[in-house]
Amino acid sequence: MARIVMKFGGTSVADLERIRNAAARVMRAVEAGDEVAVVVSAMAGATNQLVDWCHELSPLYDAREYDAVVATGEQVTVGLFAIALQTLGVEARSWTGWQIPVSTDGQHGKARIMAIDGAELIRRMQAGQVPVIAGFQGLGPDKRITTLGRGGSDTSAVAVAAAIRADRCDIYTDVDGVYTTDPRLVSKARKLSHITYEEMLELASVGAKVLQTRSVELAMKERVRVQVLSSFTDTPGTLVVDEDEIVEQEIVAGIAYSRDEAKLTVRRVPDRPGVAAAVFGPLAENGINVDMIVQNVSEDGTTDMTFTLNKTELPRARAVLEAMRGEIGYADLAADSDVAKISVVGVGMRSHAGVAGTMFKALAGRGINIQVISTSEIKVSVLIAAEYTELAVRALHTAYGLDVA
Ligand code: ASP
Ligand code: MG
Repeated sequence: MARIVMKFGGTSVADLERIRNAAARVMRAVEAGDEVAVVVSAMAGATNQLVDWCHELSPLYDAREYDAVVATGEQVTVGLFAIALQTLGVEARSWTGWQIPVSTDGQHGKARIMAIDGAELIRRMQAGQVPVIAGFQGLGPDKRITTLGRGGSDTSAVAVAAAIRADRCDIYTDVDGVYTTDPRLVSKARKLSHITYEEMLELASVGAKVLQTRSVELAMKERVRVQVLSSFTDTPGTLVVDEDEIVEQEIVAGIAYSRDEAKLTVRRVPDRPGVAAAVFGPLAENGINVDMIVQNVSEDGTTDMTFTLNKTELPRARAVLEAMRGEIGYADLAADSDVAKISVVGVGMRSHAGVAGTMFKALAGRGINIQVISTSEIKVSVLIAAEYTELAVRALHTAYGLDVA
């Protein structure tokens, strides 16, 4: 017997047929003797519709009313899911965020969970009832409904799992696990049986969009074992767990890519103390997030500074730097948005040398030029021309021995 949270994403509750299927899955777990708490998202597309309505009425909508609107998607699915379970003879009841309550801070539209009292949920589960809990929503200090940001029901599920001390949090989604790389790009991509929290976080931050990043942070902090799996098959998914649980650790867990980056070079800035601050200070003040940074060697007292940022921020970054041109004193700006960032991630890098070298060699072997490099303890990223994305990911996948046999 285990205590588990089963979380169903929008595609898994997209229509009544799928809700019935998901409910049948819960029934089988209950029949096998597990204590189950269910967390659901809104039906696929429902939240987008609700968000659009708010934007259409007013681009400067009141965030508290936005939350009142967008939280309704989940209220529909908890009720329907509870009915579906009851129809199968499983005792169940729905819970909205405020009923539990899931207490959050007051940042409407992107609230953070502060506390969940799991005592009543545990008591009912032990008495044989399945709580069906609305993801994505909570109750703010102002006693108004809050929501956790898009994709937030993953975080709800992990938080509930921590609050009821669940053995596992199963996240049912439209992919059947976490892969060594994007299977749409590399047919030899392999599903991982295990991945560490840290690797999952790095992969999520560089473009593998399986779980909301915050849910992984929370799982790591609360040591919640998370499984990512599909509600359309019966195959086991990928377990996201602590490093200690993984017996045979690969050096590299996965390769991620992102085509959302752009590169901006500030040419011929004076090479003296304070220049980096003069460039990056105003960008930060304008909320522009900078990722990789390189500064070239100086030749005649000036240097080039190159950095990457999200493509959508490029026009704003340009405007900010153009306004500062007199103060910084650079020659010109050169932008390139035909770039891609490729990242190799693995906790094994901490103890194995040569991971970056393997990457550079594999790319050189394909004639791919590296424009920018950055590293962290468990990640090496390079920026390359976007047209080589596929070639690079495939070459690296092979170079690190990740291809399926
Ligand atoms: N329904 C919300 C959304 O679409 C929350 C979630 O599905 O995770 O963002
Ligand atoms: Mg989701």
